[in-house]
Amino acid sequence: MKKLIIEAPSGLDPKYKLWAREAAGEMLSLFPEYKSSFQIEFDELCRHGQTEIDQAAFDRLPDDEFKRKFVRLSNGKYLVPYASEAWYLAQSSAENRANGIDAADMEKYGKLKAEGMLHRKSQDIVVSLLGSDIQPAFYGYGIEGLNAVISTPNCNDKEFFITIFMHEFGHILNATHERRPHTKDDPALGVHCTNDKCIMGESNYHDLTRERLERKRKNRPPFCDECIAAMREKLENMPGLTKAVAVSHANALPVLPHNDDNWKNGWRTHYRAVAARDKFTYHEDVKNPNFVAEITRNDGSKLNIEANNEYNLSLGAQTADGKDDIPAIKDFADVVAKATADNSVIEFASIRDDEFKARLLIACLEASPRMKTNKAPNITPAFLKNIDPKTKARLQKALTGNRQHGNGNTPQPRPNRPPHRPGSGNRRYTPGRQSGGRS
Ligand SMILES: [Zn+2]
Ligand SMILES: [Zn+2]
Ligand SMILES: [Zn+2]
Repeated sequence: MKKLIIEAPSGLDPKYKLWAREAAGEMLSLFPEYKSSFQIEFDELCRHGQTEIDQAAFDRLPDDEFKRKFVRLSNGKYLVPYASEAWYLAQSSAENRANGIDAADMEKYGKLKAEGMLHRKSQDIVVSLLGSDIQPAFYGYGIEGLNAVISTPNCNDKEFFITIFMHEFGHILNATHERRPHTKDDPALGVHCTNDKCIMGESNYHDLTRERLERKRKNRPPFCDECIAAMREKLENMPGLTKAVAVSHANALPVLPHNDDNWKNGWRTHYRAVAARDKFTYHEDVKNPNFVAEITRNDGSKLNIEANNEYNLSLGAQTADGKDDIPAIKDFADVVAKATADNSVIEFASIRDDEFKARLLIACLEASPRMKTNKAPNITPAFLKNIDPKTKARLQKALTGNRQHGNGNTPQPRPNRPPHRPGSGNRRYTPGRQSGGRS
């Protein structure tokens, strides 16, 4: 699980929180494979443990880098570094105040917040909404892998705000990293995308907002494919996230925003190979905006496949005489193989039939190594009563079969426990180069 924390000062107009939630939702909907991994939370601006100490306590501190970060108040007390909003504002506005300007420096503020997150070993993503004055004037500042700051005083339009939010979130997800083409590095603004009408462009937010809304009307995402691919690359390596292929049952899937049809290639290659392997007939409805294909088996029965992005699949089946059927365990094994190749787990999405769930679960349990699952059904007596006796026998065998490999005394395996991501123990906080971007 990964928390996306939206920090806002208590006095801030509540509309910004609503807009931020909407923007975060729109942003995360671009990556449905992580839908179950993200949790959006609201918080007041930072407060962590003791926020102030007195002179005597200050004098006892070892003379080091950390001690030099304390801020002395007019009442003789000291603000503890990274512990309160007061400290962040005091630190980030110190230079401005020395020059007679009463405002925070957003870039400094954002970097201090990032330092604070590293200091606390935070694994969250934090977006801070600021109500105070900013100098020099910027709308937002985002730091790879960690956080972003958005200034609200000059931002009274909802769509304008959402554009800033998504753009800065794009910086958090490293959309414009140095290993991809079509970017432009400006020493003052950071690295931005040069692809036409992409929200990661460096033009002003009014233009970016107009272009984002124009793309939305055409059901296109606000980012170009290169930015989306770069963000996926970042998400793939973020601790706390589990990528999942969501499987549902004969569900008419809504059409999602896409820049083009390239996202279909993975499904097409996979299902063409499946049909060729079994010497069945593959047919695709190429005109459909979703990926829609059917595989006709030699006995005349069919497997119906629909996907509305790379990770969202709906399966159905038909008997030779056209009646609704449930896909075979073998069909689910093919889905599991694809998910394994994509480094994903299987998520049980919208599925009415327990028989469908049971067959999908068997395919997960029988895979070697066993496929991890999200939202798998609990195997209760009521569930077992709803499924075919042959399926039931195979499910029970699959469950016990796996148990033999473990400790003989372990309780019945719980297929719905949260999946463990190999390698997620090595937390990587800082990228090689901390790239920020502001506009
Ligand atoms: Zn905090
Ligand atoms: Zn782009
Ligand atoms: Zn930017």
